[in-house]
Amino acid sequence: MSGTVNSDVLLVGGGLANCLIALRLHALRPDLRVTLLEAGAAPGGNHTWSFHGSDVQAAEREWLLPLASHSWPHYEVCFPERQRRIAGAYYSLSSERLKQAVMTLPGTDIRCGVRAVRLGPQAVQLGDGQTLGAGLVIDGRGTGAGDSAGLVLRYQKFLGQELALAGPHGLTGPLLMDATVVQADGYRFVYLLPFGPDRLLVEDTYYSDTPALDAPALRLNIDSYVRARGWAVQEMVREERGVLPIVLDAEFDSFWPPADAALPRAGLHAGLFHHTTGYSLPEAASLADDLAGVADLRSAHIGPWIRDRARRRWQAQRLFRMLNRMLFLAAAPGERYRVLQHFYRLPQPVIERFYAGRTSINDARQILSGRPPVPVIRALRSLLPSAVRSGAA
Ligand SMILES: Cc1cc2nc3c(=O)[nH]c(=O)nc-3n(C[C@H](O)[C@H](O)[C@H](O)COP(=O)(O)OP(=O)(O)OC[C@H]3O[C@@H](n4cnc5c(N)ncnc54)[C@H](O)[C@@H]3O)c2cc1C
Repeated sequence: MSGTVNSDVLLVGGGLANCLIALRLHALRPDLRVTLLEAGAAPGGNHTWSFHGSDVQAAEREWLLPLASHSWPHYEVCFPERQRRIAGAYYSLSSERLKQAVMTLPGTDIRCGVRAVRLGPQAVQLGDGQTLGAGLVIDGRGTGAGDSAGLVLRYQKFLGQELALAGPHGLTGPLLMDATVVQADGYRFVYLLPFGPDRLLVEDTYYSDTPALDAPALRLNIDSYVRARGWAVQEMVREERGVLPIVLDAEFDSFWPPADAALPRAGLHAGLFHHTTGYSLPEAASLADDLAGVADLRSAHIGPWIRDRARRRWQAQRLFRMLNRMLFLAAAPGERYRVLQHFYRLPQPVIERFYAGRTSINDARQILSGRPPVPVIRALRSLLPSAVRSGAA
């Protein structure tokens, strides 16, 4: 496939990963002609992307933090037998904010309502039959690319509502996990982000065995939770939902076959996400920064470069997949909260490095030390990848 070459860089999918790449290319390589194709009406989708300050490196913090829509100096978690406030910065970036930043980039050609139907390292065919060419094509179609080959998955699924309340909620920071709620469909918790004194994002969240999301039931749960806290809702401002991949076992060469290395990928489609949370913002920010610093921006060079990066990140996440197996295979669904409750006993730096995906061997020892919060035999069996392949444990 070949097409008229009218860009240096063609970004397919205007989601988180490719939008951050567009921003960094504009900042560091303003000479490049960049085109971004998005199937939806606007880039950025409908999300609230949150991250810990410690998830991102100093160089990324400099340009990423000014993009954040909200920030807080601390956050809390709450379990039946543990409540803890952690003095660590937490940030949220809204789709609206990302969209504004990308849409106002001078010189970047943003085309919305355009679906790519065939992708190659040098050209992309669109739904209307037109073919566009570029020296570098990056496939950032997210889950739109539809691949889960090589992955044994469970799910973090949620529905969130941004609510305008009739009065102040009284929260001073995010409540990342309120697991004192009734446990159902696996590990359940409510996630709260206070956007203002009377503005709140409330998400009903599940670490579940299935991807099915019963939206009406989750809306009712949010309503009951909000009432139980004594908050009166004035208006439901917006709603978002997600079903994120939690990885129990992974075979990288099946997910991204070596034969496909010449077509660069970014974001979830590149496998650049945290295997225990399904979150991808820190990886996306780091890729965008590093990519903009590479001299040879041609698909033939960038494809294998990103693939090798993703492969190394998967190797480094072996411990996370093992913990996921412990969570999903060793604990009875109603008892899964105990694994997280146990995790939050750890010193703050260990917790921070875990979410940043930079867990050390010493951290791993601490995470796994002590009596497991689940039956010992089942915990030991679930440590092996064979547990998930055989359905044992
Ligand atoms: C509601 C929600 C909340 C989340 N919250 C967090 C969070 O707090 N922190 C965090 O780190 N992660 C979070 N995630 C997880 C993850 O970071 C996001 O899913 C993230 O948006 C993935 O980025 P991406 O660029 O890979 O894909 P996406 O952002 O999903 O972007 C893919 C884009 O490609 C477009 N597309 C698909 N197919 C085509 C095609 N054929 N042609 C053209 N365009 C196409 C889609 O319309 C979409 O805009 C959340 C996910 C969801 C769904």
